[in-house]
Amino acid sequence: MDLETREARGASPRDWRIPLARPNVGSRELELVGEVLASGSLALGSFGRQFEQLLAEAAGRRYAIACSSGTAALHLAVRALGIGAGHDVITTPFSFVASANCILYENATPRFVDIEEATLGLDPNLVEAAATDATRGILTVDVFGNPCELDRLELLAAERDWFLIEDSCEAFGSRLNGRALGSFGDVSAFAFYPNKQITTGEGGAALTDNLDLASHMRSMVNQGRDDDGTWLRHVQLGFNYRLDELSSAVGVAQMGRANEMRAGRTRVARAYDRALAGLSWLTVPVAKEGADVDWFVYVVRLDSSIDRDRVMQGLAVRRIPSRPYFAPLHLQPFYRERFGFTPGDFPVTERVAASTLALPFSSLMTEQEVKIVCEALVEVVEERAG
Ligand SMILES: *Cc1c(COP(=O)(O)O)cnc(C)c1O
Repeated sequence: MDLETREARGASPRDWRIPLARPNVGSRELELVGEVLASGSLALGSFGRQFEQLLAEAAGRRYAIACSSGTAALHLAVRALGIGAGHDVITTPFSFVASANCILYENATPRFVDIEEATLGLDPNLVEAAATDATRGILTVDVFGNPCELDRLELLAAERDWFLIEDSCEAFGSRLNGRALGSFGDVSAFAFYPNKQITTGEGGAALTDNLDLASHMRSMVNQGRDDDGTWLRHVQLGFNYRLDELSSAVGVAQMGRANEMRAGRTRVARAYDRALAGLSWLTVPVAKEGADVDWFVYVVRLDSSIDRDRVMQGLAVRRIPSRPYFAPLHLQPFYRERFGFTPGDFPVTERVAASTLALPFSSLMTEQEVKIVCEALVEVVEERAG
């Protein structure tokens, strides 16, 4: 029985010995959420503003606009930059679906470019060849918290007078040569789903240094209202993409504990690195040169001779969850149907996607749990080999 079948038959996360991901929320989050509830001010309040300030400071950006998801943040970015029908945006097929969907929301076309094997991000050497007269910019993704060639992409975008959007939804807390991820390009996006480095439940933020873009995005989040927020005055088409005060309060508490949680993830990633060192059939995640990575997930790559899906089944039998990460976007049914993509279109993405395995990972994992996962993995793979 494959994992999908197993899940479909009702194996619930309760059955796993160790969860795939686990949010780290404590008494401070409870305390601040309690404050919001007691205040009666559940939306459009001071926690939202405080959270935005903390985010902008952490990313070294002038403006942060909190919103209801990372997807909403990406949509705001695309829309604020004026991307629309007849425009192309160069982006990666090795990502979570939101980074390409946000381009489609505005009736522009995602023009996929393959990734480089080292960082799993957009290959800058392929970008120019993919450009057309309709190309207006690049939307790049920091995969698993690791930066791609951000400096080169920034330069390329500047030379061509393109915009650059950094999808840093997996990269809160990571840095490249001392510069925070989430500070590259015209607009960047963070996401705060429960498996991310910090969480607000659902939530996200768009960041920029440009006042006009910031004002536009702030207005769109709030039904197209003017800066002064006059309740029934709408100066443009807007959305309700607001982050509520309960979520913002959780975010403020999480920001206060971000270093502690980060230290937990670093400890767990190192424990995995040590436990998996020396296995010939597996590669552990490697940070880009000059990067200080706060891993979002711990994704290993299996040798091409290993049947990844059978390894996942073997782990599932031992009640250990694992996931392929990601499934190529161009091969999603909806993208195949709409754009006619077929297997082989983006060979590096497809090869990488076939070999990835995300192991249980969170700031709360113990060394003992890491050991259990690694022993099970070795058992599953070497048992089949021998
Ligand atoms: C998490 C994530 C998003 C946003 O996800 P939401 O669930 O909408 O917050 C966007 N892009 C990538 C690469 C992500 O991992």
